[in-house]
Amino acid sequence: MTKKYTVALLPGDGIGPELAAEAVKVLRAVESVSDVAFDIQTGDFGGSAYFKHGHSFPEATKQLCDKADAILKGPIGLSFEESKKIPVDEQPERGALLPLRKRFNTFANFRPVYLPPELAHFSPLKPHVVEGGIDIMMIRELVGGLYFGKKIRSVNEAGKRQVIEHLEYDEDQIKAIMHVAFQEAMGRKKVLHNVHKSNVLKSSVLWNEVLEEVATEYPEVEVKQIIVDAAATALVINPRQFDVMVMENMFGDILSDLGGGILGSLGLMPSACVGPEKAYYEPSHGSAPDIAGKGIANPYSMLGSVAMMLDKSFGLKTESRKIWDAMRHVFGAGITTADLRDPEGKLTIIKTAEFGDKVVEAITK
Ligand code: NAD
Repeated sequence: MTKKYTVALLPGDGIGPELAAEAVKVLRAVESVSDVAFDIQTGDFGGSAYFKHGHSFPEATKQLCDKADAILKGPIGLSFEESKKIPVDEQPERGALLPLRKRFNTFANFRPVYLPPELAHFSPLKPHVVEGGIDIMMIRELVGGLYFGKKIRSVNEAGKRQVIEHLEYDEDQIKAIMHVAFQEAMGRKKVLHNVHKSNVLKSSVLWNEVLEEVATEYPEVEVKQIIVDAAATALVINPRQFDVMVMENMFGDILSDLGGGILGSLGLMPSACVGPEKAYYEPSHGSAPDIAGKGIANPYSMLGSVAMMLDKSFGLKTESRKIWDAMRHVFGAGITTADLRDPEGKLTIIKTAEFGDKVVEAITK
């Protein structure tokens, strides 16, 4: 019997709709080679939703997400100047993205930083540093810390504008993400790098205490401690030392963009944001206003997010594998989008939609 899944598709802003179109193509290609059907329902989300409805996360989109089996989201966000046209609390991240994460408690963010050996030339790092490729899974806590703490904007006693933002974590939140990270490490090389800042932040002291407690349940996993600033350096100098990394929300936001940097483009960064009941999937990057509408965005981040959705939310491992293999096949044939390095001028540069077509071709051939 055909398996059916409802997907809430939120194309978003900037390059989001361009990437979403390729995601739909690839889902339709998967349907054509497998006994599955996707009911794809589109909802407005982000800055574009604000300009249309007066809200960046409209009620109709909330209902759509509630009913869906999984949510597939394009990037959202506006350029610095465009953002100023929207009230601060309705700006895409504050008005839509954080509420989406909160609504489904998507605390576990999986961000693969992956470049197979034959594509190591895409990395801006020297060949000897990336020889053998890069394969890191960054696990970021996604619904706690500074981004979700209380924020108070006021004027202090000296009459100066001031702001206070709270960084909050409780032990249950830390425990939950630690279990996710240890389980991921168990399925890989059984080495977990814990990224923290316990030399300065008390939140990191608690983070590390809870890590030690959870670690007793996973005696086979070797834990390696690294301070966040040192982790940034190490990711550039020797990324191959890392396998699974776990970190709190803001550290993960920053280090995972560094991950995109060492791969060669944020366009190579898909992600899964998993909660107890529902997950949503999105490229790790933003809406790239600088290239929006040009048809040159790299859809790998979105198609990789589709592959993660098929695997994690629907258990369609074979279909998920087909998408990864198809993309590797396209890159392997020397075909890329314009964001990726072409040091020897040997690659064929194609547009977003053409890349999607090639992936479809590889899936269906
Ligand atoms: P960005 O991630 O949008 O872009 C950074 C650089 O990477 C740009 O040069 C862009 O062209 C390039 N890039 C990103 N994705 C690419 C792709 N798929 N293919 C090729 N090149 C790509 O970061 P930004 O410019 O700082 O932010 C733009 C907007 O996105 C802001 O409003 C920001 O708040 C928002 N944002 C949203 C999310 C999200 O939706 N989860 C995440 C990060 C930033």
